[in-house]
Amino acid sequence: MIIFHEVNKHYGKFHVLQNINLHIKQGEVVVIIGPSGSGKSTLVRCINRLETISSGELIVDNVKVHDKKTDINKLRRNIGMVFQHFHLYPHKTVLQNITLAPIKVLGIAKEEAERTAMYYLEKVGIPDKANSYPSSLSGGQQQRVAIARGLAMKPKIMLFDEPTSALDPETIGEVLDVMKKLAKEGMTMVVVTHEMGFAREVADRIVFIDQGKILEVSTPEEFFSNPKEERAKNFLNRIL
Ligand code: ADP
Ligand code: MG
Repeated sequence: MIIFHEVNKHYGKFHVLQNINLHIKQGEVVVIIGPSGSGKSTLVRCINRLETISSGELIVDNVKVHDKKTDINKLRRNIGMVFQHFHLYPHKTVLQNITLAPIKVLGIAKEEAERTAMYYLEKVGIPDKANSYPSSLSGGQQQRVAIARGLAMKPKIMLFDEPTSALDPETIGEVLDVMKKLAKEGMTMVVVTHEMGFAREVADRIVFIDQGKILEVSTPEEFFSNPKEERAKNFLNRIL
């Protein structure tokens, strides 16, 4: 579903991603971990071309992301993204936030878009908030709306970049639970997170990245019990 082949990315002279090779299969949940500034966000943002790669090949759902001729809007329709900060429209209700793109981008009729939105609001556990405004919701509830909004586009891939880092501790679990459910249902997911419990339980594979390089790709069992790389060991010692 996602193929990085010898991908490099520079910000000016800074070599932020260095010879990245990674294959992610349909239905796989890959958790990306690594120190702050190691290139995790950049890696994930390349997948829907929020960042462009400098060299190499990046193929997502059989589409060449690196090819300038690629219709990027078509590609992005298949990829949902959830950020640390929720980016909800403050002056729109929860339902309006979720139906906006399906109506505007996919051309779906309002009634159908609203039915779909309610289905996903049920799924994330807050159908009662459909007519609320984001500011009246907790951080965890807002993030669940952001997830529902991504799902309403019926994407093939969901990207998560530290989705719980901005949340109060007591609402982190409710967001992770929704993500676990999605993973069980077979969604292809790429997740940047510092939640090691989630990584251990949900990931099919862990990718450890440091200073722009993938240093280790392992199953959670291998990675947490016997990390091969010294830098991965140090990282785990710091955060566990
Ligand atoms: P992470 O998500 O692992 O914390 P990032 O991918 O955000 O790391 O950033 C990796 C490195 O690239 C950092 O050193 C950061 O300062 C730098 N960086 C990120 N975005 C830009 C940018 N738009 N221009 C220049 N440097 C950037
Ligand atoms: Mg980041």
